[in-house]
Amino acid sequence: MNQTIELKIKPNYVAEIAEGYPLILKDAAEPLDGLVEGSILKIVRPNGKYIATGYYGKQNKGIGWVLTRNPQQEIDQDFFKDKIKSAVKLRESFFDDDETTAFRVFNGEGDGIGGLTIDFFDGYYMLSFYSEGIYSFRKLIIYALKETVNYRGIYEKKRFDTNGQYLEQDDYVEGEKGQFPLIIKENGMNYAVDLNDGAMTGIFLDQRNVRLSLRENYSEGKTILNTFSYTGAFSVAAALGGAYETTSVDLAKRSLPKTIEQFSVNGIDYEQQQIKVMNVFDYFQYAVRHNMKFDVVILDPPSFARTKKMTFSTSKDYPKLIKDALAITAPKGIIIASTNNASFDMKKFKSFIDKGFKESNKRYKILEQHQLPEDFVTPEEYPEFNYLKVCIIQLMK
Ligand code: SAH
Repeated sequence: MNQTIELKIKPNYVAEIAEGYPLILKDAAEPLDGLVEGSILKIVRPNGKYIATGYYGKQNKGIGWVLTRNPQQEIDQDFFKDKIKSAVKLRESFFDDDETTAFRVFNGEGDGIGGLTIDFFDGYYMLSFYSEGIYSFRKLIIYALKETVNYRGIYEKKRFDTNGQYLEQDDYVEGEKGQFPLIIKENGMNYAVDLNDGAMTGIFLDQRNVRLSLRENYSEGKTILNTFSYTGAFSVAAALGGAYETTSVDLAKRSLPKTIEQFSVNGIDYEQQQIKVMNVFDYFQYAVRHNMKFDVVILDPPSFARTKKMTFSTSKDYPKLIKDALAITAPKGIIIASTNNASFDMKKFKSFIDKGFKESNKRYKILEQHQLPEDFVTPEEYPEFNYLKVCIIQLMK
């Protein structure tokens, strides 16, 4: 049993938590040095009156998450089972859809347990634990999952070393061992995933609706530049949508074989596509020098990246990224601008886009905007947990 301790919230933070904010911020209480991760927190006002029950688990700017506002609720086997059951029920239409066999089953705070996500990949479940605290409930959580769903196998990711990074390990938990790559479907497209190959699986499920729109609305006959392309998931969608040619650019060496694989599992001849292992910013210069123009440019950088030569941060450098893209976008072309940086909202993101266009003396129209898809449930009143922001922008002339 995890121990319970009382956590007094500082006066300034009481209202927020009492009204429903799920995250216990670092500054909301006096430091809890020495407290064991996973301890149950009885969260009280300065006068000792009960507000909520949560758990202690350090994750980014938080020290834990609220789990319930009912003083009688125990954090036990039934608690986890109820939460997972409701989450599964909410995704019934996804489980019934043969054209999409990978999606998020449990999305942390949006489903009532911050620090835990569960993704479904064609019969396999992958749990991600974002703190040692939530990991201390691992047995209860896995048992609750097994009681709720039929599964082929279960995998897990521990995403909580001292820098909040993935911990290298064998991620197999139980059930059938997966044969990787496992081929999942997304709106009828194939994607190869590997649940036991480091922090990432090969596909970011939260971009599903963007990939679909790219395929359906912006690809036919077009030239597509996919920057920060990772395994080329956007390029595959574009190629299947009838793109004339896709160009994928990523500096990670592994992106080359991974992108070839994603094309191949869709029956696309990768030799008809361009795959460049290089720095995106060098590619921009190369493209300008060669007078290249693309009908569609996709920008999906990591929130923060450091190379030998430079650092890039979305919160500072996005306007510049837009300008770089504009220099090689064809007249009336499309820019798909994306970010998963949770530290700014859609309004701010649009101001970055606006700045990039203004400084290039170009006009634009935002045709579509996307945030997290339906399976990535977030707390309704707190848009900051809806970290994904994507704008599909048309350049006017
Ligand atoms: N758009 C991808 C996900 C991008 S993840 C998708 O939809 O699947 C971010 C990627 O950016 C990583 O693969 C990383 O290798 C790459 N990256 C980071 N900095 C880069 C740079 N300066 N040039 C090229 N790629 C970079």
